[in-house]
Amino acid sequence: MYIILLGAPGAGKGTQAMMLAEKLELVQVASGDLFRQALAQETELGEQAKVYMEKGQLVPDEITIQMVLERLAAPDCKDGAILDGFPRNLQQAKALDKALKEQSKAIDRVVYIKVSEGELLKRLSGRWICRKCQAPYHEVDSPPKVKGKCDRCGGELYQRADDNTETIKNRLEVYFAETSPLIDYYKQAGKLLEINGEGGAAEVNKRIAAALQ
Ligand code: ADP
Ligand code: ZN
Repeated sequence: MYIILLGAPGAGKGTQAMMLAEKLELVQVASGDLFRQALAQETELGEQAKVYMEKGQLVPDEITIQMVLERLAAPDCKDGAILDGFPRNLQQAKALDKALKEQSKAIDRVVYIKVSEGELLKRLSGRWICRKCQAPYHEVDSPPKVKGKCDRCGGELYQRADDNTETIKNRLEVYFAETSPLIDYYKQAGKLLEINGEGGAAEVNKRIAAALQ
């Protein structure tokens, strides 16, 4: 089962991908997390991605596609994966379809998490993330039980460098220009499930589970 989570920055892809991965016993492949790991480990990939991430722009396709396809070729993705943050434009979607097809596989479902723009801005500006397991929190809507600490693993919470007003604006612009056309692409392929992403994470998760049945 290969599932894509589609939606704007702040739509809740990370949270829902994590919940779905646990429930379906599939790995979560989050392109943004892969880039942030590379950045933290100061690899060449991290160095290449850095300038784009800081501005809220897409990392060039050659780099991104290779990184994600390599991750998907690992043994733990052999029977499926939850993709979060990839694909983000038509070129990436086509490269993904092609790579899966070469192995007689295909994307099964695309879960499009729909959230209004005002809500997206609010969510992104109050976001805190666990350094260890990447679980996201919101200082008002879903604060951790202990301030600054992850409920799941006790890891330290931090705010992403690109969760600042200027970069958030860029990321949303890039999303509407480049990523939102994928909604139609997957609708035409008969794979799209549209989910109302407003409300609590558990509530949204129930909607997704019901739609996937
Ligand atoms: P969000 O969805 O909240 O913006 P991500 O963690 O998915 O955050 O991505 C953070 C940054 O990493 C993006 O702004 C972009 O620079 C880069 N990135 C992640 N995924 C991709 C992708 N599929 N293609 C190009 N760049 C990407
Ligand atoms: Zn954690």
